[in-house]
Amino acid sequence: MKSRLLTLSLYLLLAASVPCYGSDNNREARQQMVETQIRARGVTNPKVLSAMNKVERHRFVHPNMVPDAYIDSPLPIGHGQTISQPYIVAYMTELLDPRPGDVVLEVGTGSGYQAAVLAEIVKHVYTIELIKPLAQDARKRLASLGYKNITVRTGDGYQGWPEKAPFDAIMVTAAADHIPPPLVEQLKPGRRLVIPVGSTPLTQELIIVEKKKDGSTIQRSVLPVRFVPLRRKN
Ligand code: SAH
Repeated sequence: MKSRLLTLSLYLLLAASVPCYGSDNNREARQQMVETQIRARGVTNPKVLSAMNKVERHRFVHPNMVPDAYIDSPLPIGHGQTISQPYIVAYMTELLDPRPGDVVLEVGTGSGYQAAVLAEIVKHVYTIELIKPLAQDARKRLASLGYKNITVRTGDGYQGWPEKAPFDAIMVTAAADHIPPPLVEQLKPGRRLVIPVGSTPLTQELIIVEKKKDGSTIQRSVLPVRFVPLRRKN
């Protein structure tokens, strides 16, 4: 009898300490983010919606920013840089047309959030960050979250990552004043580069560069945007 009581009280104690689904505010906040900010604005790719639902954005922001992690806005990540607005992350991912077997290059790792979203969909993500402490933090964060298909490097992403080229898709998450030729060179024919281009924050546009089978490119502007600048290593 005594031992049955003990088992019962142990069970009750355990049951009380396991959070139930409904109380998982971050999961709810994420679902709401996907519905109201992303699906409502026209993103339909199921792989993208599922990745945005899965990746825990609150793990990519500073601890005191966690309550704001799912709002419809970019957020500061230190060193004067930002994690992009959730909608922009989703939209750029959709524009890239990512496929399961793809090897993708991202320029501008920042927090590592965009890399994680891509890594949910594709085979491998190579990502480059100019600011060493940001690259180190992102590498640690992504490893602790269990991502084995993301490689982070410190460096100037303008030059791409020639050793790992060609890439099935390339995404730049900082604004350049022109399209870096090395990135076009490292893109596979038939595939896409997505990049914000513009020399001032008020004139930036999100550009899709499509590399045709014959190696020529066509460009299309799809949205006015505002990104931090792509800087060059001196
Ligand atoms: N994709 C990031 C946000 C990017 S903010 C995320 O999901 O959090 C843009 C990032 O590009 C910044 O961290 C900035 O330091 C980096 N950056 C700027 N110029 C760069 C360059 N030439 N090469 C690599 N990274 C660069």
